Amino acid sequence: MNKIKTRFAPSPTGYLHVGGLRTALYNFLFAQKNQGNFLLRIEDTDQSRLVKGADKQLIKILKQFDLKYDNTPIYQSKRTKIYQKFAEQLVKDGKAYYCFCTPERLTKMREEQIANKMPPMYDGTCRDLKSEEVATNLKAHKPFVFRLRVPINRDIKFTDLIRGEVSFNTSTIDDQVLMKSDGFPTYHLANVVDDHEMEISHVIRGEEWLPSTPKHILLYEAFGWAPPAFAHLPLLLNPNKTKLSKREGDVAVEDFLHKGYLPDALLNFIALLGWNPGEGSTKEIFSLEELIKEFDLNKINKSGAVFDIEKLNWLNGLYIRKLKVKELAKLCKPYLKQIKNTKLIEKIIIVEQERLKKLSDISQNLNFFSDKKIEYVASLLVWKKSTREATLENLVKLEDYLITLKETDFKSVKNLEEKITTWLKQNNFGVGDYLWPMRVALSGQQNSPSPFEITWVLGKKITLKRINEAQNRLR
Ligand code: GLU
Repeated sequence: MNKIKTRFAPSPTGYLHVGGLRTALYNFLFAQKNQGNFLLRIEDTDQSRLVKGADKQLIKILKQFDLKYDNTPIYQSKRTKIYQKFAEQLVKDGKAYYCFCTPERLTKMREEQIANKMPPMYDGTCRDLKSEEVATNLKAHKPFVFRLRVPINRDIKFTDLIRGEVSFNTSTIDDQVLMKSDGFPTYHLANVVDDHEMEISHVIRGEEWLPSTPKHILLYEAFGWAPPAFAHLPLLLNPNKTKLSKREGDVAVEDFLHKGYLPDALLNFIALLGWNPGEGSTKEIFSLEELIKEFDLNKINKSGAVFDIEKLNWLNGLYIRKLKVKELAKLCKPYLKQIKNTKLIEKIIIVEQERLKKLSDISQNLNFFSDKKIEYVASLLVWKKSTREATLENLVKLEDYLITLKETDFKSVKNLEEKITTWLKQNNFGVGDYLWPMRVALSGQQNSPSPFEITWVLGKKITLKRINEAQNRLR
């Protein structure tokens, strides 16, 4: 068998969709698994949809995820002459033709077809122009496109590696434009020419490209080239089974990274969207190396894959917990801009690591970890059936006790917990009656880390100050 070669062929039209990252990943994995090559091609021939800098952004993201490609990225916009040459060859061979129809005429034609409840398709006006007519039009400098001469009423069959036998009748396929009047090729022509020239053995791409495949097969046939193998990946779905869309939540890889999903966790999650290591396996945590080892095109599902953000949060939390405190502190820095003290950052990380689902969560509790005054309503300090008066009394007793502690007693959460709970027990004080107001006094919140954890981060001075402030609120 020829060497396995796959490619990722994004159009630089904006952000990278998570589905695009999955396509890149599967192409990478399949090539790696089979000691093949994985190539990057930037499909930038649609000048109207280009977004400046999107190509650089794509390249940066592939790097962040460690999806290494084996070539210098190919830009289709630099290859227009090549597509032109191939398109002209098709015209010469009678497989494509000049079309001089104006955009106005085509719009009118489409409107009429829609009004008559017909599928909007090119009506073939220029399909059989005589060579003299073509020559006259060219002489008059009439703008033109090249169209593919799609055979009439033929079934185009192919075997998709994921979907099995697929068949399209050419009656549903328009005479595709191959070269546009601006001299740029369309997606179909450039895609086929490049997959052929780059000797791509397997085209692995999203299901939305399935209807393009018969057009591509016709082009391969017209050129007399053997087509590659095709594998169309299942759609990504929202939990309500509609197509994953921006309206329902994030879809851009950039957005997930900004929120603090770790590349390794995100890639692990994305790998499992539509693929699993096989029946009986419950393994869900995969490094890139493990994915390369286990990946198999045969184990990709046909049906859509639900993008479950809860699962991503769970997985990301798991990866966060595996990080060393120093590493995590470094990653969290961009979310902790207001805090300059590295020691304090590390303390916050130690307290929060267990709870973080994504790095940006760290900024939620920052207020009470800073030395600023915190805001809350006094009634929040009162535990269940207790009263304001009793709460005030308890906070005074707590303050008196904490004053007696030495600075060294604040050296660890465990030590603080031991000291304070022993004191409560010895005096027969109710845990909730003391620890609830203590926690609220320190955090100002209903839910927060434990009072021992916050006390440890804040240190003796600020802890006492906050407890004092809480008393004043109750007076
Ligand atoms: N440029 C297409 C895209 O943006 C490539 C589709 C294909 O892989 O053929 O996804």
